[in-house]
Amino acid sequence: MITLKNISKWYGRFQVLKDCTTQVNKGEVVVVCGPSGSGKSTLIKTVNGLEPVQKGQIFIGDTEITSRATNLARLRSKVGMVFQHFELFPHLTILKNLTLAQIKVLGRTEAEAKEKALALLERVGLSAHANKYPGQLSGGQQQRVAIARALCMDPVVMLFDEPTSALDPEMVNEVLDVMVELAYEGMTMMVVTHEMGFARKVAHRVIFMDKGEIIEDTSKEQFFNNPQTDRAKDFLAKII
Ligand code: ADP
Ligand code: MG
Repeated sequence: MITLKNISKWYGRFQVLKDCTTQVNKGEVVVVCGPSGSGKSTLIKTVNGLEPVQKGQIFIGDTEITSRATNLARLRSKVGMVFQHFELFPHLTILKNLTLAQIKVLGRTEAEAKEKALALLERVGLSAHANKYPGQLSGGQQQRVAIARALCMDPVVMLFDEPTSALDPEMVNEVLDVMVELAYEGMTMMVVTHEMGFARKVAHRVIFMDKGEIIEDTSKEQFFNNPQTDRAKDFLAKII
């Protein structure tokens, strides 16, 4: 579903991604971890074309997003993305937040968009809040709204960049629970997170990055029980 082939990226003279190659199959959950500054956010943003790369190729399904011929806006609607900060529109109700792109990008009618939005709000346990504004919700609730909003677009892939790291600890699980459910339903997911409990529970594979490189790309069992590199061992010793 996602293919990265020999991706390299520079910010000026600083190489932030070094020859990264990996693949995420349909229905697979891949957790991306590694020290701060190792390039995790940059890598995941390349997958929906938010960050251009100077070398290599990226495919979503059969569509090459690194090709100039590709309509990026249309492709992006197929790739859901949830960031650390919820990035909801503060001046729009929760319902409007969920219907806007469905109407503008997918051309759904207001009624269709609303039906979809309400179904997804129900699914993340927030139907009662449809007419509130983001500021009236807790961080955990806002992040669940952000996930519902991404799902409204019927994405084929969901990308998460540290979705729980800005949350108060008591709100982390309500967001992880939604993600776990999504994983069990077979969504293809690439998740940057330090929540190793989540990784142990639902990840099929773990990618470990350091200094812009993919150092390990292996099964969850292998990564946790028998990491191959000292860098991964050090990392695991620090965070578990
Ligand atoms: P991570 O998500 O693993 O913490 P990032 O992908 O955010 O890492 O960043 C990787 C490296 O690239 C860091 O050293 C960061 O300072 C640098 N970096 C990120 N964005 C930019 C940018 N827009 N311009 C220059 N350097 C950047
Ligand atoms: Mg990051």
